[in-house]
Amino acid sequence: MPAPISSVLIIGGSGFLGCHLVDLFYKLTPRPEIHILDIRPPPALSPNFYSFNPDDISFHKGDITDPDSLRAIFRVTKPDVIIHSASPVHGMGKDIYFKVNVDGTQTIVDVALEQEFWSTIKAVVYTSSASVIYDGSDLKNADETFEFPEVAMDAYNETKVLGEQIVLSANGKGAGLKTCALRPSGLFGPGDRQLVPGMLAVLKTNGTLFQLGDNMNLFDFTYIGNVAHAHVLAAQKLLDGDVSDVAGEAFFITNDAPVYF
Ligand code: NAD
Repeated sequence: MPAPISSVLIIGGSGFLGCHLVDLFYKLTPRPEIHILDIRPPPALSPNFYSFNPDDISFHKGDITDPDSLRAIFRVTKPDVIIHSASPVHGMGKDIYFKVNVDGTQTIVDVALEQEFWSTIKAVVYTSSASVIYDGSDLKNADETFEFPEVAMDAYNETKVLGEQIVLSANGKGAGLKTCALRPSGLFGPGDRQLVPGMLAVLKTNGTLFQLGDNMNLFDFTYIGNVAHAHVLAAQKLLDGDVSDVAGEAFFITNDAPVYF
């Protein structure tokens, strides 16, 4: 039996992944209290794809760059598990990535490690990105032994590396906080507002009339439900007594284990 979770705080829980995280934590038995911390409320969701009753989920408006807002929400929600999935979307300026992904992540960790929360917050799962090891060159059969590139491709990737390092370096601190990082690649599935809508927009504007390269490039996309499931498993494993193989570690999340030659 996996360790029961009494209260989970899903930071960024109004987002694409966040809504699927809510959905999977909702299906757990026993069901934990489920709280969302986000700068915006959750969207209206189709019952075709999500099984939770929105009335059972508590939304807390807050900004991860504001320690007072975090403190107040941690006090009310008393989470034993925090899932940190908040990030600005792709295509924003460098400053906002550093403010949210680096300063905001540091603030979450700093507040979670304040003595007041030692007896409450046991585990933090960070949504990192497979792009943390991307340097612009082809990566085939990459795994967790791959190093971060010396120069990141862009500010998003750079700040996801720094966010991951902040969360993993908090492992074992305070009263023995457990942390890990999950690295999904491009997400697809119900509720996606970036990948497929972006492709359709290109199609509608005839942007597919030309081709760059030989059309043989590979890219790893991961189904959103599998990524959410990985977060649930990571949270349960961190709460388990035997966490030596998860705590302090980062894991790529993919649909399968394809091997390309
Ligand atoms: P999303 O934009 O749908 O969700 C992110 C949520 O974070 C939003 O609801 C947003 O309001 C919230 N947020 C942003 N700044 C905040 C702040 N300062 N305080 C509180 N909340 C804030 O994004 P998503 O596609 O669901 O991505 C979720 C996570 O997965 C992110 O960490 C992202 O880096 C990571 N990721 C996404 C992809 C992808 O293809 N979408 C791939 C790999 C990793």
